[in-house]
Amino acid sequence: MPHVTSKIFYDQDADLSALAGMTVAVVGYGNQGRAQALNIRDAGLSVIVGNIADASFAQAQADGFATFPIAGACAQADVVLLLVPDEVMPKVYTEHVVPHLRAGAVLDFASGYNVAFGLIVPPANIDVILIAPRMIGLGVRDTVVAGKGFPSFIALHQDATGQGMARLLALAKAVGTTRAGCLLMSMHDEAALDLFTEQAFGPAFGQVMMSAIETLIDAGYPPEAVLLELYLSGELIYSFQKILEVGMLKQMDYHSHTSQYGTVTRSAKFADLDLKSRMRAVLREIQDGTFAREWSDMQAQGAGMFERVRELRAQLPLNEWETRARRAFKIGDAG
Ligand code: NDP
Repeated sequence: MPHVTSKIFYDQDADLSALAGMTVAVVGYGNQGRAQALNIRDAGLSVIVGNIADASFAQAQADGFATFPIAGACAQADVVLLLVPDEVMPKVYTEHVVPHLRAGAVLDFASGYNVAFGLIVPPANIDVILIAPRMIGLGVRDTVVAGKGFPSFIALHQDATGQGMARLLALAKAVGTTRAGCLLMSMHDEAALDLFTEQAFGPAFGQVMMSAIETLIDAGYPPEAVLLELYLSGELIYSFQKILEVGMLKQMDYHSHTSQYGTVTRSAKFADLDLKSRMRAVLREIQDGTFAREWSDMQAQGAGMFERVRELRAQLPLNEWETRARRAFKIGDAG
């Protein structure tokens, strides 16, 4: 596939006046909702909050926002940020959001998933946009307070008013993400990249970690030593930080010559792992909607899968090994 040149937008490309006089409703005052609501208010726009009556509702009020049931907030809004968890979003959208959206309104998502896979099909008379932070909610707030901002993937999914792009960039600026840069793509691409990280990179990386742990423990090394060596010392995080700062290849210069020689000469032994064909298979299932259909079916069945996975996880010896290593080296809470 040819590489498509990315278009990236910054502060100077965005003008807040595209949202002048509009009321922004943040629906779901959770991880993303709270951070984005605070940032948008600080940018000078008029923000209200829509939430179910729970602790998040009380938090929004304590933070000084006019707070309403979701339907009530949407009925007053020109711009709606739908920031509830993805798995409850279609129901919340159908029952409490779409009946109240005005023609010409803006509907914004922080994840492309539901629109990309047809679980939400917005009406044709509104602008539909995506601002998907590559950052957890706390970072969305903290980086903006620190004056830096955070990167995002953005999309203009539907431009009913002809003002969609200007509104998308204005909202991205208010949220604080044009400070760092926003990469324009489709909602489907954003969802696919996100899912691929979770379903291919994450599991493959986890398998490498577990294989290394088991190889060393099977060879008789003490679990505390193995875990400290592989990740509990924090050296791995430090190396990742350097990857972020100088790049994957250049960070190798920070390691000893023995380390570099061993890594370079032994890399070939792992080069024939059949990772890419498996990753391509996972990607295909994401792209053609197979995963989304499977996940919807699982939710509909109401399977207690997460409880069962938690029970299985709790039985793994890794928990005990980590606890011992943390205690021994005063790491984290055990410190
Ligand atoms: P949260 O889990 O923090 O929940 C957000 C809010 O939705 C909370 O106030 C929650 O209430 C409320 N809520 C939960 N269930 C319901 C329901 N059935 N009906 C109405 N409201 C409900 O969500 P996130 O902020 O993590 O995610 C929001 C969006 O942001 C998602 O699209 C996600 O993919 C996206 N996103 C999230 C990131 C993150 O770092 N978490 C990163 C990038 C994107 P309560 O507090 O009671 O549970």
